[in-house]
Amino acid sequence: MMQTPLTMTQMIERAERYFPKKQVVSRTSSGIQRFTYKQIGERTRRLADSLTKLGVEKGDRVGTLAWNHHRHLEAYFAIPCIGAVLHTINIRLSPHHISYIINHAEDTVLLVDPDLIPLLEKCAHELKSVKAYIIMSDDKVLPETTLSPIYDYETLLADANPTFQYPEDIEENDPAGMCYTSATTGNPKGVVYSHRGIFLHSMALGLADSAAISEKDIALPVVPMFHANAWGMPFAAVWFGTSLVLPGPYFTPKLIAELIETEKVTITAGVPTIWLGLLKELDEGSYDLSSLRGVLCGGSAAPKGMIKAFEQRHNIPFLHAYGMTETSPLVVISTLKSYQENLDYEERLEIRAKQGILVPGLSIKVVGKDGEVAWDGKEMGELCIKGPWIASEYYKDERTHDAFGDGWLHTGDVVTIDEEGFVKIVDRTKDLIKSGGEWISSVDLENALMAHEAVFEAAVVAVPHEQWQERPVACVVLKDSYKDKVKKEDLHEFLIPQFAKWWLPDEILFLEEIPKTSVGKFLKITLREQVHKEVLK
Ligand code: ADP
Repeated sequence: MMQTPLTMTQMIERAERYFPKKQVVSRTSSGIQRFTYKQIGERTRRLADSLTKLGVEKGDRVGTLAWNHHRHLEAYFAIPCIGAVLHTINIRLSPHHISYIINHAEDTVLLVDPDLIPLLEKCAHELKSVKAYIIMSDDKVLPETTLSPIYDYETLLADANPTFQYPEDIEENDPAGMCYTSATTGNPKGVVYSHRGIFLHSMALGLADSAAISEKDIALPVVPMFHANAWGMPFAAVWFGTSLVLPGPYFTPKLIAELIETEKVTITAGVPTIWLGLLKELDEGSYDLSSLRGVLCGGSAAPKGMIKAFEQRHNIPFLHAYGMTETSPLVVISTLKSYQENLDYEERLEIRAKQGILVPGLSIKVVGKDGEVAWDGKEMGELCIKGPWIASEYYKDERTHDAFGDGWLHTGDVVTIDEEGFVKIVDRTKDLIKSGGEWISSVDLENALMAHEAVFEAAVVAVPHEQWQERPVACVVLKDSYKDKVKKEDLHEFLIPQFAKWWLPDEILFLEEIPKTSVGKFLKITLREQVHKEVLK
C-alpha cells in the first residue's frame, strides 16, 4: 500500500473543495455571522500566511485564548497546516496556571479574544516566550491594552494571501496540537496531539457505531474548543463538510436552546452540567428541538435520571461517552448492539448510562489487585488504554512515568466491564470512598440522588472516619421549587432501597451550589474541604 501521510492539510482542503457551500454559523460579541467553507478555507489560508509572515516556524507553539467561534476554527487548521502547534489554552484556569502553561509550552504567538485581554494582562509580565498578540475582534479598532506588540486579526487577514499554499513537508507524526489537563493538584500536564492522531480520531468520530458525525449533520460543540479540542468535533466536522454552529462567548442554557431550534442542530456535545442547565430551561420554556438526533455527553458521568428526563420528557436522545484530554478524547461510547435494541426501555437505559463500548482502533485492559479483572460488570480495576490517538507522554513532565510507564496510559479511573464489553466508570481513584476496606462509588450515589425529582445536583465525597477509615457525605442542591420542602430524611429514604446499608451517606448537606472545575466538573477537592469543615467541626 502507499504510504501517504495522515495530515490535517487534506482535511481543510477537502472542505474547501467539496463543501464550499456548507456553512459555519458563528456567534461573536456582535451577533450571529455566517461563513461558507469556501470563505473559511480562504480565511484559513490568509491566517496561515499572516502567521508565517510574523515569523512562526515549523514546530513553534501558537496559543489561543478563545471561545468557540469561526476565528478559533480558522486557527484550528492554519496553525497545524503550517507545521506549527495549536495550543488551546483553558481560559478558566487561574492566571498563575495560565502563565505556567504558556511558559511551559513556550508559545511564541497568542491569539486572544478581546474580552479575555484583561485575563491575559494579569499574567503578561510573567510570559517569557510570547512575541506577538493577535486580537480576534469584530471591531477593526484595537482595544486599549498593556499587551504588546498587538495585531488585529482582521487587518492581518485583509493583507494576506488568500491562495497561500500549505507546506508539503509535514509528517504525520509531527505535533499538530497541544492541550493541558485542568489541574486539581499540581501544575497542569501538557498533552501533544499529532496530525496522525487527530486524523484517525476524527475518522473514529464519523463511524456509524460511534458519534456518526457526517455531512448531513449540523453540529454544535458546546464543549469549549479549549477542552480537549471540543472533543475533536470541529476537526471531524470540517473534514466531513458538516455544518458547524459555534456558540461564542458567555452562552446560557436559553441561548443553547435557541441556537438548536433556529439552526436545526442535529448533534451537540458537552458535559453533564451543561445539560442539567438545558434540561431546566426546556422544562420551564417552550422550544422545538426535534432536529436533534443526539446529545453527546461526557467529561463526567451522565446521571441516568437526566438521560431519562431528556429522552422521555423532551424526546431528545443521549449518547454517553468517555474520554480524557490524554485520549483525544474518544475512548468508549454507549451505542447499543443490535440485539440490545429489543430490550425494554429501562434495561436499555441501564446499558446506555454506562460509558460504553470501545471505539475501533484502541485497546483497553482493566487491571485490578490480581491482574486483569473478569468481564462481569462487578470486579473493579483501573482502566488502561493504548492506541494511535492516545498520548504517549506528558510534555516535558516528570509525571509521565507514573501514567505511561509500561506503554499503557493508566487513566486513574476505576471501572467495571460487563459481559458485553460495556465499561462503567465507578470513580476516579482519588474520589472512591474507602469504607471498612471496601469501595463505595461516589458516582453511583450521585446518580441515584440526581434521579430524585427535587434534586438539581448532587456530589458525594469522603470524610475521614475513625472506625471505617472513610464514610460518604452527600452534598445536594435542591431545585428552587423544592427548597425548604424536601428534608434530608426524604432523600435518605429514597436511597435505602437502592443500596446496601453501608453505602448510604452518613450525612446529607444542602448547599446553594457545588464548586466546579474549569471545565464544569464537580471540584471534589474544594468540596471535600468545605464538607470536612462542616462535618468535622
Ligand atoms: P480534566 O482531567 O482536565 O478534568 P479531562 O476531560 O481530561 O479533564 O478529564 C478526564 C476525566 O474525566 C476522566 O479521567 C474521567 O475521570 C472523567 N470522565 C470523562 N468522561 C466521563 C464519563 N462519561 N463518565 C465519568 N467520568 C468521565
